[in-house]
Amino acid sequence: MENNKLYLQQRVKTTPISDDYQITGQVLGLGINGKVVECYSLANREKFALKVLHDCVKARREVELHWKVSTCKHIVNIKDVYENEYAGHKCLLVVMECMEGGELFQRIQDRQDGAFTEREAAEIMRDIAYAVKFLHDHNIAHRDLKPENLLYSKPEPFGVLKLTDFGFAKESQSQELSLQTPCYTPYYVAPEVLGPDRYDKSCDIWSLGVIMYILLCGFPPFYSSHGLAISPGMKKRIRKGEYDFPEPEWHHVSNDAKTLIRGMLTIDPSGRLTIDQVISNRWIAQYTAVPKTPLYTNRMLKEMNNWPDVQEEMTRSLATMRVDYDQVQIKNLENSNNPLLNKRRKKIDTASGSASTTVRDPSETVI
Ligand code: ADP
Repeated sequence: MENNKLYLQQRVKTTPISDDYQITGQVLGLGINGKVVECYSLANREKFALKVLHDCVKARREVELHWKVSTCKHIVNIKDVYENEYAGHKCLLVVMECMEGGELFQRIQDRQDGAFTEREAAEIMRDIAYAVKFLHDHNIAHRDLKPENLLYSKPEPFGVLKLTDFGFAKESQSQELSLQTPCYTPYYVAPEVLGPDRYDKSCDIWSLGVIMYILLCGFPPFYSSHGLAISPGMKKRIRKGEYDFPEPEWHHVSNDAKTLIRGMLTIDPSGRLTIDQVISNRWIAQYTAVPKTPLYTNRMLKEMNNWPDVQEEMTRSLATMRVDYDQVQIKNLENSNNPLLNKRRKKIDTASGSASTTVRDPSETVI
């Protein structure tokens, strides 16, 4: 992670952004951290998107991690980062490629020419899964993978689907633990200690499952198909993993697709598919062989008038999951029955006494 910081420090420009870009003030989108506005390169008049972040540790981590993976075809590319005073505050100004094609589900909803098909859904899932694989291979979990963070580079019929917003991304520390602390030598370490990042990454797989479900029917697994807000009874069923594939929307959807969704929405994060298993699943790997079954998706998306509620529910579920999984990771380290860890613990306990951490059952996560 030190390397990331160095990487950021070396590449951040401290010259005024106005030397290189004209900021028009045209707002492209609003996020929890502020506005994303339009700007133009003075060198070639090319249009870019500018995200302004207050310079703090969290913002630096967001930019470091996003920049590190922005070479991936399916991740929004960062062009430049400036450290400037902006409106009297020290800010990080992030110049990104401008995503002019809008959000994934808006595009499907707006489609005029015929029904969205299962094969198209598979192609989209392959693109998103590629972005997630790139991240996970770099030991980064996105942890906020949701529809509004999936944008097209150009308007229909062109454009590439890309993932953005690394505000909750987290780099796995497993390597650092094993490198820095002698008693974490991989040979001796209990499996759950070796993979503390497994929970963070499994968050992204759950998101993939929800996005795939919506792609195939036009409503999420944690909502009623009639667009009613989630009831307490339904919440309970969801917690137990009791979502279903209702008729008529799911009638003609392939069993391969349903099996893949089940693997990604498995309640127990340790039993959920990994990104490599998702990528090699034949519904993804051989997406050109997936049937072109017409789906209800665009019609359902058009009819649904509570899309903001759906987005809010997913945002809330991901936030709960991040907190729960962070706690579970602490528990895993504390509860692992590794002889060397135990020896070390005893030493620490005798020296200073110990405190236990209360941990919620991960199955309590409301999804
Ligand atoms: P936050 O982290 O504050 O939530 P986001 O990065 O999600 O901010 O951006 C907020 C909104 O700005 C997005 O939902 C999208 O509409 C728009 N936006 C973000 N990045 C771009 C981009 N590169 N090109 C065009 N619009 C963008």
